Amino acid sequence: MNNAQNDETAMDEFTKDLFDNLFRDQKKSFPVPDGVLEEIRLIVEQCRQKQRTEPIISLFSRLKDIKSESGQSPDAIGVSKKTLIELAQMHSRLDEHGVSVGGRLTRALPIVHEAISRVDSYLKRHPVEAPSGIELWDHIRENIRRIQSVLNISDSDWNSYSGQIRNCIDSVDKLGKILDLPAHVLDDIQRVTQKYRMRLTPYYAALIQPGKINDPVLIQSVPTGEMVDNVGIEIPPVAADHSPARLIDQFYPRVVTIKATNMCAMYCTHCLRLAHIGKKDRIYSDQAYGEALDYIRNNPLIRDVLITGGDAFVLPNKIVRKILTALDEIEHVKMKRLGTRIPVTAPQRIDNELLDILEESNDKSPVRVVTQINTAQEITPISREAFKQISKRVSAVLNQAVLLRGINDTSVKMWKLCETIQESYVRPYYVFNCSYRNPQFSHLRVPIEKGRDIIESMYGNISGDAIPRYIATAGGKIPLHRSNVVEHVGDTVILRKPWNHQEVDYPDADSEEYAGTDFSFLKYTP
Ligand SMILES: *Cc1c(COP(=O)(O)O)cnc(C)c1O
Ligand code: SF4
Repeated sequence: MNNAQNDETAMDEFTKDLFDNLFRDQKKSFPVPDGVLEEIRLIVEQCRQKQRTEPIISLFSRLKDIKSESGQSPDAIGVSKKTLIELAQMHSRLDEHGVSVGGRLTRALPIVHEAISRVDSYLKRHPVEAPSGIELWDHIRENIRRIQSVLNISDSDWNSYSGQIRNCIDSVDKLGKILDLPAHVLDDIQRVTQKYRMRLTPYYAALIQPGKINDPVLIQSVPTGEMVDNVGIEIPPVAADHSPARLIDQFYPRVVTIKATNMCAMYCTHCLRLAHIGKKDRIYSDQAYGEALDYIRNNPLIRDVLITGGDAFVLPNKIVRKILTALDEIEHVKMKRLGTRIPVTAPQRIDNELLDILEESNDKSPVRVVTQINTAQEITPISREAFKQISKRVSAVLNQAVLLRGINDTSVKMWKLCETIQESYVRPYYVFNCSYRNPQFSHLRVPIEKGRDIIESMYGNISGDAIPRYIATAGGKIPLHRSNVVEHVGDTVILRKPWNHQEVDYPDADSEEYAGTDFSFLKYTP
């Protein structure tokens, strides 16, 4: 080792600061116990023997603590400055990216610790406040046994989609048998179900935690008095002004939806399409599908077609195949989406034939499955398996959640939802602010600002690709995100870090340079 390398001046500023701090004079100092001296001596030995960075960091960290606690400098406790300089250099040499001991110890590690403190409370609270269906699985299995026995559902019925639908809970009578609800609550549900349809698959009903008032799965699926008592005027969704052809909705130039059915396996209390959905099951005619497909065929701009409903997977396999095949034969249709909540409401529906149909179409052009999961509680090992199977056959599985009061309107609940679905092969796509159009579920609405706080809280704290876009639906989807551009000061933009609200300067691209036309090869071509 030559002298230049051995010199303190070769250190970066963080390491210099660290040394200044360790060796600064201190008026008062207290003796250090023998045990600590021995400990330090051992770490120094380890630093020399093991060709690892970790003991070097722990040595400097201990010395730093000793200095601040007792005022003793390293040389006073038997570690010379020369030794420390050598170890500091060894640290940078060992590290592939030349990271200094000062940088790692006084910068990087505190930043990590600060970051960890932001998720502490989430990690403590989520198992209690927002348990997933995977975590609740033992309880859910118990519910399944109980519901099967009370409603007399055979295993083969339970495990098939037709069995789930045949045994669905669509009356207050049946509901009262499987959930311990007080008589006046049941009377209230009776009153509402005269106007609005209730239907839960027994599987979905098993996700409800018994005895929990306002269980998030319960309030998504069992209507309450508010649905008829809330005052206000219903604005029917996507009315005549959005439907240019039979079954078609369109407000974008190149994307349309085909509302291919009005049926769902489970009817949500917050359904945006309350006006169309669930009044009466209807099978649409070939002629209706034919006209919808003709509209798409005759509009060469349309490149992306959403098959929705209701729930697209309620359709029998042969109709799913027919629609996808027809779309695949239209050259300008470059991709398809299918909207379904079935993987969480009736995962038994996902059979091999359906998977083959999806894969076959996906081979021609991308198929994406768009689902709706609003709580981690809706993800069980069964639905996770369904999503896994689907994700192997299509190009993406995306989630569109609705921000709902008491269901997912806290950071803990929303982070848990997004992380759980991501771990279940599903990508968070949208979070919708619950619509103003239906007074029936105005009690489930959450203010826009509250939703912005929740979405904002995810940045920097959960994986970026688990963060959905926050949307208001008002004649199209309007992004609601908060801006993190604080202000422009000359050519510098002040940005705010969403996770700790720290402001940073961000030099912008030079606008004059950008306005010029000569750049790259153009600039060097005569
Ligand atoms: C939601 C929706 C779309 C699709 O919007 P994306 O932002 O592309 O997901 C298209 N058409 C209608 C009528 C819709 O409601
Ligand atoms: S699955 Fe969708 S369409 Fe069906 S009831 Fe729920 S929100 Fe409405």
